Amino acid sequence: MPGKIIIISAPSGCGKSTIINAILSQGDIDMQFSVSATSRPPREGEVHGVNYFFLTEQEFREKISQDAFVEYEEVYAGRFYGTLKSEVERICDQGHNVILDIDVKGGVNVKRLYGDRAISIFIMPPSVEELRRRLETRNTDSQEMINERVGKAQYEIGFAPQYDCRIVNDDLEIAINQTRTTILNFINK
Ligand code: 5GP
Repeated sequence: MPGKIIIISAPSGCGKSTIINAILSQGDIDMQFSVSATSRPPREGEVHGVNYFFLTEQEFREKISQDAFVEYEEVYAGRFYGTLKSEVERICDQGHNVILDIDVKGGVNVKRLYGDRAISIFIMPPSVEELRRRLETRNTDSQEMINERVGKAQYEIGFAPQYDCRIVNDDLEIAINQTRTTILNFINK
């Protein structure tokens, strides 16, 4: 029985990675993270093969021509991100469920591709103003980048109605529990 697909999307700064890592580290759900490929450079502390497979743009384009992706998107100008068929197949063929952290276009495409075998979950900020405040507090991006991310967030939130469910991350612990319960209900269905 091949595994099921859990798709998680959220605007940047909504706590998506924190929620995914918290659920994975609890270790009691049979679910593995699909490591995407990207042409963006690693951030400090990121490890090749763990957070992403970091490729040059040319290597990424070669993978596109080899039909190596379930889906890929140019999420930021010149920065490509893609779900590798090899990752999803490796995890699913072993009978495990797979969790994908992907952008809104990728999320909608993967859901369309896998239908009832997939659940798509959108993590929402309490408001766009709160998201801006969080990005400023995080202090990892320039003001220009924050403006870009907030603008993009507004665009991304427009995709939320197309997801199977939406979870507002106002209180992190509550959001983790709601996401966890949603995943468990789907897996055990
Ligand atoms: P970051 O650069 O902050 O790690 O990720 C930027 C965005 O790219 C996030 O919204 C993340 O979910 C998305 N992303 C990561 N991997 C993939 C992927 O394989 N496919 C798509 N479509 N988006 C991805």
